[in-house]
This record gives sequence, structure tokens and C-alpha cells, in this order.
Amino acid sequence: MRPIQMVDLKAQYQAIKTEIDTAIQDAITSGIFINGPKVNAFKANMEKYLDVKHVIPCANGTDALQIAMMALDLKPGDEVIVPTFTYVATAEVIGLLGLVPVMVDVDKDTFNVTAELIEPAISEKTKAIVPVHLFGQSADMEPIMALAKKYNLYVIEDNAQAIGAKYTFSDGSVQSAGCIGDAGTTSFYPAKNLGAYGDGGAMFSNDDEIARKLKLVANHGQSRRYYHDCIGVNSRLDALQAAILDVKLKYLDDYAAGRQKVAAYYDAAFADMDMIQTPVRQHNSTHVFHQYTLQVPAGKRDELKAYLAEKSVPSMIYYPLPLYEQDAFKDITRAATPSFPVTEQLCKTVISLPISPNIDEEQLAYVVEAVKSFFA
Ligand SMILES: *Cc1c(COP(=O)(O)O)cnc(C)c1O
Repeated sequence: MRPIQMVDLKAQYQAIKTEIDTAIQDAITSGIFINGPKVNAFKANMEKYLDVKHVIPCANGTDALQIAMMALDLKPGDEVIVPTFTYVATAEVIGLLGLVPVMVDVDKDTFNVTAELIEPAISEKTKAIVPVHLFGQSADMEPIMALAKKYNLYVIEDNAQAIGAKYTFSDGSVQSAGCIGDAGTTSFYPAKNLGAYGDGGAMFSNDDEIARKLKLVANHGQSRRYYHDCIGVNSRLDALQAAILDVKLKYLDDYAAGRQKVAAYYDAAFADMDMIQTPVRQHNSTHVFHQYTLQVPAGKRDELKAYLAEKSVPSMIYYPLPLYEQDAFKDITRAATPSFPVTEQLCKTVISLPISPNIDEEQLAYVVEAVKSFFA
């Protein structure tokens, strides 16, 4: 049996090696390493794939969030609502810009923020909401958009984990996660569902004016060469990464299907075990399974992780400590509620299993057997 990995990027490369190698060689031969035809082609294909008006590539997913907040003109002291149960980047850029992160709890089933959890956290100072589409499925966006409209707030979707997920509105219309709010962001970090061979990121918007600002801020606030309209940053996707991503974009739906197959296998295997809660699907979003995350009894979780490691089954804890408990956020955060019972619980109970699209049946059976034997 091949060694099991959380996500097997080497095997993924081997399967499309010729195409990737050709694309890389083309990019180098062209002599254009920043912007240019490779970046433009990827941008256009991504716009088509997501059915969004504007994709603005940048250097990574953290930059994408920061640029979005700068482009929407958020000012020091403005409050931005974020989930406490997410990767640090979401809240970090809020702090970096002198904005105030207002933390809210998440839904116990989907791990995502909901309009009901967000509304009590809104104050006079609130300017934006940043829902995170955690682990591969969209937050319930329709009520969140309605709430944003009611209070006149921006919505910036952190879609680093759910690229390709589709959200269905009550009227039956369907939109890509990340393309519903005023702006959306993603990351092309290698282990993300659409991963580069280095860093990369992008922003999305259907609004021409916001898209113009996103592009401006990502490029030194420069509207034409050497004329700077606002303070910006330098955040670019390079041509090599764009060439690689453009090849992998063609396979993104296949990769998602592979992940969904693995998820279905795990679901069936653990269905009869009362010690294990398998992932709950948001009823109006597809799930692209960036992570396959179980909830197990709190006292058993770390033991299970160690037991799996002994059997060479990798697993990960996303995330072990709520953001509001991190030293970095203690002094700058406004807690919306005195406690965050769901996040506190999840930090003790979640464990993510290998979810490579190319994991084989033998490896899957081995992972399942390892988990089952721990609880036997
Ligand atoms: C990965 C990730 C980011 C940051 O992306 P980078 O490209 O690593 O900067 C932001 N938010 C979430 C939810 C992520 O998972």
C-alpha cells in the first residue's frame, strides 16, 4: 500500500504531468513572468468556471482578504464580523488594518456562521461581514445577504476552502460560493482544492466598481503606470502559477467528485457508530470536501489522533484553539457573546481524515479499519 497522505499532491501531479510540464515550459519560454497571457487566460477561464464577472488574481488568500477590505474602504475602528472557528488569516487582516474583529459562534452542524448568529453582533460600527465557507460548503448566504442589506453592510466571502461549491437560492437560482457577496476571496495554496505549486490567490466580484478598486489596490493603487490613486499593496499571481492553475482548473470538478466519493465511503463506513458524527450537509450548498471532518467524544479525540498516527494514518485538527482565545486577538477583539459554546466544543471534538481525490480503496479501507478499531 502507498503511504497515506492528507492530500497526495505528488500523485495528482503524476496523473497530469505532461500537460503541466508543457504549460510550465511554455510560460518560461514566453519570457513573461508577471501578468501577461498566462495570467489573463487563467483569469478568463476562472471567470467562466465560476460564472462571475470579475476575477482578480493576487499573491495569496490572505492578501486577497486584506485587499478586499482596503478596496471597500474600511477604516480603523470599523467593526467586521467573523466566525471564531476559522483559519487565522480571516481575522488577522482585520487586525492588521486596525479594524475590530467581532467574533461570532458557528452552527454546530455545518461549522459555518448563520444570519441568526450574526445579527445580535451588529452594532453602529459594523461595516462588513466575512462569512467563511468552511471545509468545502457554502455558508447559508441568502439570509446573510438579506441581513447585510437590512443593515447596509458589505459581505466579503472567504472562499479559500470551497472553490467550486454551488449555492442554491430559494428561487432556484444557483451561484458559485465566493461570488455572492460584494467581494469574494480564495487561496491557491498547494493543499487547497485548486492548488498552485507555490502561493497564489484571487478575488471575485460581480460589481464593476468594486472590481476596479480590487485591481487598483492589488497594484500599488496604480490606475495607469506611475499614477497612484490610493495606497495599495503589491500582490500578484505569477505566470508560472497561472499556467499550472489553468491546467488544474480543467480537473477541478473531477477532483471534487473524487473527494465526494471518498466522503460517501467514510459516511457509509461510520454510519452505524454512535461515537462518531459524520459531516452534515448544508441543504442548499454542494460540498467539495476540502476537509472531511468528524466529531468524536471530546475526551477521545487526541487519543484517536495519536492512535491513527501510530498506524501511519495522518489526521489533522482544524482548529484546536478558538480565535478569540489566541493571544494575538485578546486585546483587539470585541466578543459578540460572553462565550462561544459551539466553537469551544468543536475545538475539542473535530478531527479531519485524509481526503485526497486520488486515495485508493485499499487505503480507504485501512483508514476506516484504523478508526473503527480505536472505538472497538
Ligand atoms: C488558506 C486559507 C486562507 C489563507 O490563504 P493563504 O493563501 O494561505 O494566504 C484564508 N482563509 C481560509 C479559511 C483559509 O483556509
